[in-house]
Amino acid sequence: MAKQSNLHCSFCGRSRDEVKILIAGQEGHICENCVEHAQEIIMQELQVRDETRTTQYKFNIRKPVEIKNHLDQYVIGQDDAKKILSVAVYNHYKRITRKQQPADDVEIEKSNIIMVGETGTGKTLLAKTIAKLLNVPFAIVDATVFTEAGYVGEDVESMLTRLLQACNYDIAAAEKGIVFIDEIDKIARKGDNPSITRDVSGEGVQQGLLKMLEGTEVLVPPQGGRKHPEQKMIRINTTNILFICGGAFDGVDKIIARRINTNAIGFNVNKEDQEQQRKNLLQYVNAQDIRAFGLIPELLGRLPVITYLNPLDASTLRDILTEPKNSLMKQYTRLFEMEGIKLLIDEDVLDFMVQKALEFKLGARGLRSICEHILTDAMFELPGSNKKELHVTLEYATKKFEKSKLNKLKVA
Ligand code: ADP
Repeated sequence: MAKQSNLHCSFCGRSRDEVKILIAGQEGHICENCVEHAQEIIMQELQVRDETRTTQYKFNIRKPVEIKNHLDQYVIGQDDAKKILSVAVYNHYKRITRKQQPADDVEIEKSNIIMVGETGTGKTLLAKTIAKLLNVPFAIVDATVFTEAGYVGEDVESMLTRLLQACNYDIAAAEKGIVFIDEIDKIARKGDNPSITRDVSGEGVQQGLLKMLEGTEVLVPPQGGRKHPEQKMIRINTTNILFICGGAFDGVDKIIARRINTNAIGFNVNKEDQEQQRKNLLQYVNAQDIRAFGLIPELLGRLPVITYLNPLDASTLRDILTEPKNSLMKQYTRLFEMEGIKLLIDEDVLDFMVQKALEFKLGARGLRSICEHILTDAMFELPGSNKKELHVTLEYATKKFEKSKLNKLKVA
């Protein structure tokens, strides 16, 4: 019999000493690394070939009113966006689930969507909540990581890798999924004359997105990254994938203001109303404004639904703390409950949190870190103690917050 140390993996050649496990076969051996690698290859092969695999996703198509009602439970305000999204999403899924029609029948076009609104106002949350309700795969991608093919950065196709990963490579499901492209405004064309330098991360990427948004067969690298010749590709048809784009479009309000003034459609109202309108200019956003901002018309043509999100004011932030089904307050109450501790938070503490979120320009995202800073000490000390209640008063909250690092961030 061969000596233990002479044994080696028949696949990679590593000796017994270099591996943890060596499994014996009739004629040779295989090590744990090669088993793992083989497993990966098998999975990829099966996924690539098995395009007819039945999907585990059972889509829940909902009526627009139902979608909106559901969104209301998780997202505060943003009524216009919710309504427009509900209709667009409903029409999209109606379009893809309807029976095959005769060739000359009316073809319903895709309703990809752009949402314009400051960061942290709920764009991602809306898209994510819809995807969850409909039970479709969902991926969030950042437009800023993409560059035109051939340049350093990611190819636009890699966003489909994310979608595939989100549904464990269930191709049939991914082909009906939702992709949320964040920061679409960051790939706006830079300047009016694109021919001076090549705009590989702006207009180049917009061009790259065109076909995909409209619907085409794309070869997707299963593990993402750049395509390379030896890599097995997964073929995905994007015709039924819904793309929702979001962006802050900083400065678009000025473009809207200019257009509205030029068009002068009854905007000679009193001063107060004018002020209000200036604040709410986003509600008038249209494709023309987004084009002036720097998205190319061809791309806009493939994003026919445009909606906006309002900036969050104090009362909305206050509601965000307590109203949504999984609001921060409900989450913390549950966390303490799990330790057998009753959490009581005074109303003025909630106002304090909102005031700090506004003061530090942290928006809704900041509410969470403010809560953390106020409650961390208690979450550290109370488990295991015999305290059965935590009463957070304004005094307690102020003291904890002022001690926190967040307080040092204060902007002048
Ligand atoms: P955006 O995509 O617009 O930058 P997000 O949707 O990621 O913003 O929002 C960040 C977080 O802030 C969310 O996870 C959510 O907790 C909270 N939030 C923002 N807007 C709302 C809202 N309108 N209703 C409820 N929560 C919100």
